[in-house]
Amino acid sequence: MALNRDQFAAWDKKDPLAPFREEFLLPPGVIYLDGNSLGALPEKTPERMREIIEREWGRDLIRSWNTNDWIRYPRRVGDKIASLIGADAGEVVAADSTSVNLFKLLGAALQMRPDRLVILSEQENFPTDLYMAQGLINFLGKGYRLRLVGHSEIAGAIDEEVAVVTATHTNFRSGRLHDMGKLTRAAHDRGALMLWDLSHSAGAMPVHLNRHQVDLAVGCGYKFLNGGPGAPAFLFVARRHQDVISPPLSGWMGHEAPFAFDTDYRPAAGIERQLCGTPSVLAMAALEVGVDMLARADISRLREKSQRLGDLFLQLAEEQCGEFPLTPACPPDSNERGSQVSLRHSEGHAIMHALIARGVIGDFRAPDIIRFGLTPLYLRYVDVWDAVVALREILESETWRRPEFQKRQTVT
Ligand SMILES: *Cc1c(COP(=O)(O)O)cnc(C)c1O
Repeated sequence: MALNRDQFAAWDKKDPLAPFREEFLLPPGVIYLDGNSLGALPEKTPERMREIIEREWGRDLIRSWNTNDWIRYPRRVGDKIASLIGADAGEVVAADSTSVNLFKLLGAALQMRPDRLVILSEQENFPTDLYMAQGLINFLGKGYRLRLVGHSEIAGAIDEEVAVVTATHTNFRSGRLHDMGKLTRAAHDRGALMLWDLSHSAGAMPVHLNRHQVDLAVGCGYKFLNGGPGAPAFLFVARRHQDVISPPLSGWMGHEAPFAFDTDYRPAAGIERQLCGTPSVLAMAALEVGVDMLARADISRLREKSQRLGDLFLQLAEEQCGEFPLTPACPPDSNERGSQVSLRHSEGHAIMHALIARGVIGDFRAPDIIRFGLTPLYLRYVDVWDAVVALREILESETWRRPEFQKRQTVT
């Protein structure tokens, strides 16, 4: 049976997550389908920013490291993120960027398997993950190699040369999910370590790092965690590995006694040794607001709604846009899909431009994918309806052919 907008409005009325939308400052007239690239602004963030700038920085000045506990920000926010990803307190810190954290943990993993020289990953992995691995092995020399295979071949490509397998849980283009338990077991069966990138999963769905005995993980703070542009990222090291790692970036914040100002580096116990330099305090405060909000949401419910939004988006796209050369680039089964849908069209870039001009903000991923992030905390069912209707109108009227939509921008 064909869908109609009233049904979507009725689902919004019954949606237990609907009140969260009021906690975001969303511009009127915009349907925001890019929360997987940059999460929306929580209402509390500007207030918290003003407070930390004017009171904690302006008035309390350097005393704030102690009196406002700035020094423990990486641990405090890390512990909160831990509860979203199935880790324990003391296994996660918020720090640096995802790229830098990858470098730190890949370096650590190679040290932990000294007789193995291969980092195994997948061709379709997010580029920075691959670039960081390439930079690390060039830097190390000594025969280290990056081996890349297709998404479904990765488990079969693990052998006794592989020190660490690194994969992104939700693929950024297709939204395809890896089976975290299965791939982690496959790595362990062959003596390799497993490093997951949770950038597109943390805050979007339940993740069970410890249930699956994951060794290492990294993830992003500005996507589903709504931490703000360039928010600190996070990293996870399973407790059993924490004290054997010698951090390749051995900064003073990871020192056993940073304020002893010793000449020699001695790593702190536990997860703290993964820290490097001074935390970005203002950015941490913004990230904390986003994470606190997620902690109040039922993450299984979030996942359920996101799966439903995705299924409806795909069904509606087929109903409304079936006559156009638009094909799904994501798994049809929502259990195999992260919190996004992707569609393929040879003119995807121009189509996305035209959509954005109409206030429907998704993004484009080369060469031909238009991508719609589904953020169940602040997205309504009617938004999905309205977005697909806008897409159909753009395809029908061919407004994407206009010259202003043909130009490429620096950031897509
Ligand atoms: C977004 C994302 C990153 C971003 O890395 P930065 O260092 O924050 O630029 C890395 N990996 C994956 C898989 C991502 O989705």
